[in-house]
Amino acid sequence: MAKIDDLSSFMDWVASRNPGEPEFHQAVREVAGTILPFIQENPVYAEARILERLTEPDRVVSFRVTWEDDAGKVHVNRGYRVQFSNAIGPYKGGIRFHPSVTQSVLKFLGFEQIFKNSLTGLPMGGGKGGADFDPKGRSDREIMRFCQSFMTELYRHVGPDIDVPAGDIGVGGREIGYMFGLYKRITNHFNGVLTGKGLEYGGSLMRPEATGYGAVYFLENMLHTRGQEIAGKSACISGSGNVATHAAEKILQRGGKVLTLSDSSGFIHDPAGLTEEKIAWVKRHKRKPGARLEAFTAEFKDAEFHRGKRPWIVPCDVALPCATQNELNGEEARTLVANGCIAVSEGANMPTTDEGVHCFLDARILFAPGKAANAGGVAMSGLEMSQNSARLHRTSEDLRQALKKIMSDIHDACVRHGGGKDGHVDYVKGANVAGFKKVADAMLAFGVV
Ligand code: NDP
Repeated sequence: MAKIDDLSSFMDWVASRNPGEPEFHQAVREVAGTILPFIQENPVYAEARILERLTEPDRVVSFRVTWEDDAGKVHVNRGYRVQFSNAIGPYKGGIRFHPSVTQSVLKFLGFEQIFKNSLTGLPMGGGKGGADFDPKGRSDREIMRFCQSFMTELYRHVGPDIDVPAGDIGVGGREIGYMFGLYKRITNHFNGVLTGKGLEYGGSLMRPEATGYGAVYFLENMLHTRGQEIAGKSACISGSGNVATHAAEKILQRGGKVLTLSDSSGFIHDPAGLTEEKIAWVKRHKRKPGARLEAFTAEFKDAEFHRGKRPWIVPCDVALPCATQNELNGEEARTLVANGCIAVSEGANMPTTDEGVHCFLDARILFAPGKAANAGGVAMSGLEMSQNSARLHRTSEDLRQALKKIMSDIHDACVRHGGGKDGHVDYVKGANVAGFKKVADAMLAFGVV
């Protein structure tokens, strides 16, 4: 059994139990690094083996997804649902369709989700799911058939009081609609089993905007601790999907200048700054099957496209990685700091590598880990669940205020648990300790189960 006061032997234990899962190891190391000292100060958690128990998912379901393409060819993919912890509420976390999906990736995401959901203050446990299916270039009918096949197995494991999935990379409103339609048909239940639904059938206003807007609200809260504002600041953003485009929109609304967006083929640099019109164009364009960001430069001549590169070489005041995991490495972090970047707010999950995180922490810039900065999405999903249970609809303005308040409460929790005597806030430590404590206390209350 692991020696709980030693990160290296604890990680040896985790690695030996979960071989070949580097993303999961990375996520556990990041949490354990700040939680172990907290546990030493509070031995009740060590005695009950809370951290060891939390690194073992309640269950992992893996299943075959067979589907037929438009030409009648049969394909086989692998689907998963990782149900990590329901200590404080039903499992909750998105579904990702991307060829890079593995059990390791979904375990890292499900593990992170436990602490993120706890931070929102809402009663949600942690889970994640997905498939190694590549939706790029697939027709609408192919997407529908895949979603239906995926749900013919998933429906056995989910439910409004059991596990409530949502969207993630490759899964947006369209895919949620297809999955909800199939769930309803085979169970005959109309309920809040999924979030991110369309407004006509139980969805919540503000859900699409919530993650990106929330990451900018968090950034704003961090800047305020140093008497600064977003207005007048330049921002590098990666990604061009749901999170990235809404983060760009909110930076613009706050008077900032957005210099970059990216996708898996490269990044665009627009020195004049993106406008509402340009962001709307990106949203429309990226909805087309297989569309690449490169076409932006044909439409807007001042911008440049950098094929195969990432945006972190462009000097900026603030950075928001909003694409995927490990998309900002140590060297890129050093470049950002050397170029004067003062704050990083992670819209994506674990976009910064271990080395990158340490570079930001050592440089003492404002650094918000994804589990705090992008919690606005799942928080709004939590509010969608409560609207579904109560069978009512809240207004946009009401939800926008609720989102701002939740992000500011998360920020305060990070300051409470991560603030040092010199006034500097370690948001990684703050988010981990605040998220861990609530879940750990619930587990203590349940006894040894
Ligand atoms: P989308 O599918 O809408 O967009 C993903 C974006 O990231 C696209 O621009 C995509 O480019 C790019 N991308 C994906 N994989 C890679 C890769 N391997 N290398 C480079 N670029 C890549 O997803 P979301 O915006 O919803 O999610 C983005 C991130 O935010 C993920 O980490 C997700 O887990 C996280 N997140 C999302 C939430 C939500 O509410 N949607 C909530 C909390 C976190 P391309 O089009 O070329 O594939």
